[in-house]
Amino acid sequence: MSRTSKDFRNILLSHSARFVWQKSMALEESFPPVLKGMNEPQFVSLAFDEICDRCCATDAHTIAWREGARYCKPCLYKHFYTYEQFVAFDQSEVQRHQPLYRISYYDVVYPAFLSATTSLERRQEEVFFPRNTVHQYNVERLRIDSHEKLAKWFTEKHALYAEYHGYHSACIAWEQVHHARKEEALRREQSNG
Ligand SMILES: [Zn+2]
Repeated sequence: MSRTSKDFRNILLSHSARFVWQKSMALEESFPPVLKGMNEPQFVSLAFDEICDRCCATDAHTIAWREGARYCKPCLYKHFYTYEQFVAFDQSEVQRHQPLYRISYYDVVYPAFLSATTSLERRQEEVFFPRNTVHQYNVERLRIDSHEKLAKWFTEKHALYAEYHGYHSACIAWEQVHHARKEEALRREQSNG
C-alpha cells in the first residue's frame, strides 16, 4: 500500500472520520443501521468482505447479523443448529422439564435466522439457531421452577427476539438488493465480453 493510501486508510479508520463512514453508508441504498457494539468500519466490512470470521475462508456468504459475523458453510453448520437438529436437541431434557411449552413457542423465542440466499423451497431446512445461545437458553430454562417465572422468561426472550427480528429483516432486505445488483453487474459484464 502506498504512503498516501495508508494515510487515507488511517484517517478513515480513526474515530474522527466517523462522519465519512456515516456519509458513505447513507449513500448505499437501504443500508441497515450499524449493529450495536460495532463501529462503522467493522460493520461495512461485515456487509461486504466475504471472509469467514471463524476460519478466514474467502467464500463466506452467510451473514449472521445478530452475531455480527460472517460464516463459510462448514463453520455455519459447526456453530448453528439446523431446524431439525434444534428440535431434536431441544425436545429432550428441556421438554421433560417443561412439558407444557411446545415447539411453536420457540419460533418467536430462540433467535433463529434465515440466510438471505435461502430459497422459498428450502426455508424449513435452512433456519439456523446459534448453538451457544440455544445452550444458554436451555440452561436458564432448566433452572426455572415455577410457571410464573417461566412465563416471565418467555416474555423477556420474546421481546429480545422481536427487537432482533425487525433489525434482521432490514439487514436481509439490503442483502437481497445487494445480491440482485451483483448478479445484474455480472450479467452485464458477460454480455459485454
Ligand atoms: Zn469458516
